[in-house]
Amino acid sequence: MQIPFDNSYAALPEAFYTRLNPTPVKAPVLLAFNRDLARVLRIEEGDLGDAAQIFSGNKIPQNAEPLAQLYAGHQFGSFNPQLGDGRAILFGEIIDINGLRHDIQLKGSGPTPYSRGGDGRAWLGPVLREYIVSEAMHALGIPTTRALAAVATGEPVYREAALPGAVLTRVAASHLRVGTFQVFAHRDQIENLQTLTDFAIARHYPDAHGPMDLLRAVCAAQARLVAAWMSVGFIHGVMNTDNCAISGETIDYGPCAFMDDFHMGRVFSSIDRQARYAFGNQPNMAIWNMAQFATALLHLMDDKEAAVEEATAIVHAMPEQIEAEWLARFGAKIGISQPHQEDTALIQDLLDLMQQDGADFANTFRQLCKPMARDQFKDRDAFDAWSKRHTARIQSEPDPQALIEQTNPAIIPRNHRIEQMIEAAVAGDMAPFERLRTALATPYDNTDPDLQRPPTESEIVPATFCGT
Ligand code: AMP
Ligand code: MG
Repeated sequence: MQIPFDNSYAALPEAFYTRLNPTPVKAPVLLAFNRDLARVLRIEEGDLGDAAQIFSGNKIPQNAEPLAQLYAGHQFGSFNPQLGDGRAILFGEIIDINGLRHDIQLKGSGPTPYSRGGDGRAWLGPVLREYIVSEAMHALGIPTTRALAAVATGEPVYREAALPGAVLTRVAASHLRVGTFQVFAHRDQIENLQTLTDFAIARHYPDAHGPMDLLRAVCAAQARLVAAWMSVGFIHGVMNTDNCAISGETIDYGPCAFMDDFHMGRVFSSIDRQARYAFGNQPNMAIWNMAQFATALLHLMDDKEAAVEEATAIVHAMPEQIEAEWLARFGAKIGISQPHQEDTALIQDLLDLMQQDGADFANTFRQLCKPMARDQFKDRDAFDAWSKRHTARIQSEPDPQALIEQTNPAIIPRNHRIEQMIEAAVAGDMAPFERLRTALATPYDNTDPDLQRPPTESEIVPATFCGT
């Protein structure tokens, strides 16, 4: 198997990372390989045994420069001055057929100097969950890291019980996080911070001139991203600054989930006890993260007072940016191609009704103009009244139904399906994984009723775990 590495991060100063190889595993078995993505990455497929060796970390491919990245981060609001890849190894970078650069990273690849007592491993559940959900996000058109491979290690991982170990190969525009900037700002290593900023600009925002421009670009990317999440009912679950990629991709699929019945306050993550990362709080948290990013970048500015003022204005512009993105997306979701400010009330009234009656997020939007939409509501009169207003509003639209079907997925990776898939995989049955993977590659077109169906009472998954 040939991997055409072209590494840039490994050329940065030693302070940015620790060079080390993944820890070999006992009996790697390739569980999933993303052929479409491999093709885009110009990875030539050899025999699958080779893939299992490489993507488990047992074999270091030619021209890889394995390393663990250093970063810091605010976790649930409190600053941790040193995190870093505690269970991940960056193999290197590839420039794809479209000229875009990607990191190729193994996750679950053994301990590193940043493991802080952790075992550096991952178990099968979170690996397959990230594979399915990140690929589904990609198919939904939302910026995200992707999954190239999943390999079973043949070794147990000890969590609450002994569980089968696995390694995920993650592909990302980069793994530069807000926390990568924070670590150098916190240590007052201005030269490293400057080097990182130049590197980030060159890699992601080549039109940006200096840190203030970078801040502006990242804020815009985060505003777009969080609105995109909201539009599909996605709850990231752990929006810590070390899980906030400056590329604007969704990263770190730990305790994430898609909502079934709509509620602004929905939380799945078992460790999010204060509901900090609840569905409806995500815009605030994206803004909070950008305030931390601004704070780190301010270390580079000479005229501090003027810089604080400008950076503050940039961060304070985010609510308006998010609202505009939100309106464009939710407008389209109800069949309005060019929504105006006044349409906000129509959208909000629907969401209020949905929340009050526990309507299913995905199905309500998808079926909005169909008779069965009514069945989502307990207060049918209230929905009928809303529907009347809605019908009047979309009268002038050329093809609202087409717009609704283009912007509302028919299927999403529902929690209960993911849990069922993991349970089967642990028992050695990968068929549910394959089924989800195939179906979710075309989420706007696949109308498999079984995957559209919300969980039954006994299928409901009340909490998710990051699985570390
Ligand atoms: P996360 O919440 O997954 O973003 O992880 C936060 C930090 O904990 C990162 O620095 C991870 O590398 C580290 N970490 C998570 N799980 C493990 C593990 N099993 N072993 C070592 N480090 C870990
Ligand atoms: Mg993380």
